[in-house]
Amino acid sequence: MSEFRELYQEVILDHNRNPRNFGVLEDANRFADGTNPLCGDKVKITLRVEDGKIAAVRFDGMGCAISTASASVMTETLLGKSEEDAQKLFESFHDLITHGSAGEVDKSLGKLKVFGGVSEYPTRIKCAILCWHTMKAALDGSQEPVTTE
Ligand code: ZN
Repeated sequence: MSEFRELYQEVILDHNRNPRNFGVLEDANRFADGTNPLCGDKVKITLRVEDGKIAAVRFDGMGCAISTASASVMTETLLGKSEEDAQKLFESFHDLITHGSAGEVDKSLGKLKVFGGVSEYPTRIKCAILCWHTMKAALDGSQEPVTTE
């Protein structure tokens, strides 16, 4: 087993057991709901945007280990970022989990890089990307619930 894959499993286990920023943000000014019917993952993203920056972000819902860990690491990463950076991270994360970490990886992804391991399991990609699509919908002010199908 590669060192990278060990790290991937370690991060998934840790964030699934102890999700960061879990719950609903009471004073959110952006929010969206998302579902991944293929796996049964459900996520609610609540954000507070102040002066174009993400001042607070939380996720709620029920899902598999990968969807929970992905949402947990996402909220950690997005805190304090500008809306523009959040959109850029979405693109980079999408590239990473669909193409893996063999290619060029955006350095600003930080801990998110371990999710490159998901690219080896195509059925899990939707689990990992669900929270990101939902976050994007929240920032875009979309009222439609997000679905990966
Ligand atoms: Zn899942």
